[in-house]
Amino acid sequence: MNVVDSHSHLYCDAFDADRAQTVKRAQEAGVIHVVLPNENRASLPLLHDMKRQFPGFVSLSIGLHPEEIHDDYQQELNILRAELENNRQDYVAVGEVGIDLYWDKTFRTEQMDALEQQLNWCLQYSLPFIIHCRDAMDEIVEVMEKFRDTSLHGVFHSFTGTPADVARLRQIGDFYFGVNGIVTFKKSSVKEILPHVGLERLLVETDSPYLAPVPHRGKRNESAFVVEVVKFVAKEMVLETDVVAHATTQNAKNLFGLKV
Ligand SMILES: [Zn+2]
Repeated sequence: MNVVDSHSHLYCDAFDADRAQTVKRAQEAGVIHVVLPNENRASLPLLHDMKRQFPGFVSLSIGLHPEEIHDDYQQELNILRAELENNRQDYVAVGEVGIDLYWDKTFRTEQMDALEQQLNWCLQYSLPFIIHCRDAMDEIVEVMEKFRDTSLHGVFHSFTGTPADVARLRQIGDFYFGVNGIVTFKKSSVKEILPHVGLERLLVETDSPYLAPVPHRGKRNESAFVVEVVKFVAKEMVLETDVVAHATTQNAKNLFGLKV
């Protein structure tokens, strides 16, 4: 099986002790490429280290994570934007961006403003977005509406919305949806979106080190486990595992322009 892990934080300190072995296990499991979403200014050098260490195996994204948005967010955005302007060729996406009101609603307005600014980078630099949305579907839709009838495209990663949410977003644009270990959790309703999203717009990911799929639930997640997501999705959609792996790999290549 050849599969792309479209969202992993492989650069974070959870992998400091065994990063090379983690990459090796991923490759042995059939993972041919990993997309690394950025979190803030501090994580950018870590992403670039990954590219030096594993050339051809990882692609980088640039953006300010919604949980990283505080009083100084405009300054952070200016720095990230300058980096994108100067090194456009280093990036395959703007992300992860979005809105997260699960823990804290303090910066709701700022999160919406930061998302709008970063979606404008997508248009300006011809890059797809990687959106993180948690407890914020109305806010996301409100911002996205401003981009109706533009060329804006991208993926709603770790998507946990309903089929109605998929339909709502599709009124705005033809987007991709990423599923991870959550889809394998017994009480999760994420599997219900699969027939609505369809194989043509589905991406698989780990979001490692978080959200390990069954049967590794509760452990540190890693890219090799994306195979469990593929297997689960295949079973749910009554398809061969290789068909899901192939389709989601093609989707990742098309969306991010990966040369793998
Ligand atoms: Zn993430």
